[in-house]
Amino acid sequence: MTPASTNKTPIVRMPALFIGHGNPMLAITSNPYREAWQALGASLPQPKCILCISAHWQTLGTQVCVAKYPKTLHDFGGFPTELFAQQYAAPGAPEFAQLTQSLYPVGKINTNVDWGLDHGAWCILQSLFPKADVPVFQLSLDLNLDFSTHFKLAGQLAQLRQHGVMLIGSGNIVHNLAQLNMQGKTADWARDFDQYVKSALENGDDEALMHIERAGPCARLAVPSDEHYLPLLYIAAVRDSADQMQFITESFDLGTLSMRSVLYS
Ligand code: ZN
Repeated sequence: MTPASTNKTPIVRMPALFIGHGNPMLAITSNPYREAWQALGASLPQPKCILCISAHWQTLGTQVCVAKYPKTLHDFGGFPTELFAQQYAAPGAPEFAQLTQSLYPVGKINTNVDWGLDHGAWCILQSLFPKADVPVFQLSLDLNLDFSTHFKLAGQLAQLRQHGVMLIGSGNIVHNLAQLNMQGKTADWARDFDQYVKSALENGDDEALMHIERAGPCARLAVPSDEHYLPLLYIAAVRDSADQMQFITESFDLGTLSMRSVLYS
């Protein structure tokens, strides 16, 4: 018996979404992204639980967190105490974490009890599900895998949507901390790459999403390391032909963090 079949309420096939999370202060300040996340959350169906794939959990080999009570991780530095005081006390979902483990080839996912919810998860979940009453668990990003392998494995997670699990990827399509612009000026290379990914998403072009070098020199500047881009691949990989795609937010935070967010429903 799967966890989903133990509940008598009908299961709604859950949307899948990718959120561009930007800098952590967006979670506690007044800004249009946070307002959009709140409005989106109010419009979403109630999932049985949430699987979050965050840019901020990378491991050797894939891990899934089976903690019953995942702790709130303040995995950043140099921010005000108010941000460190934030707690997101949603319960975990160990039974769904184990279901997730069973969807990958044997031995491909290890369980973890120590992680919790990193800021890639809670900074957006606070707005999407402010009551913290939906169980949440995280899946890590395996440092060893290339984009194509991530995409292929992520496709196995699509069936979770039928079990009432909402998949949420949290990262940024363009993420270059070395070239942040405090005046919010966005360089052409950042816009060019964001447009490249926008077109790929609109066209359902998975190859373009996986082979970002085809975007030209802007790709290396926009994705200087993989982790903030990868959660988008996980969400693109679980879409199906019944999905409509829509962009929730666009624009840039601090010049070089693309805030483009995507909903498949
Ligand atoms: Zn981040």
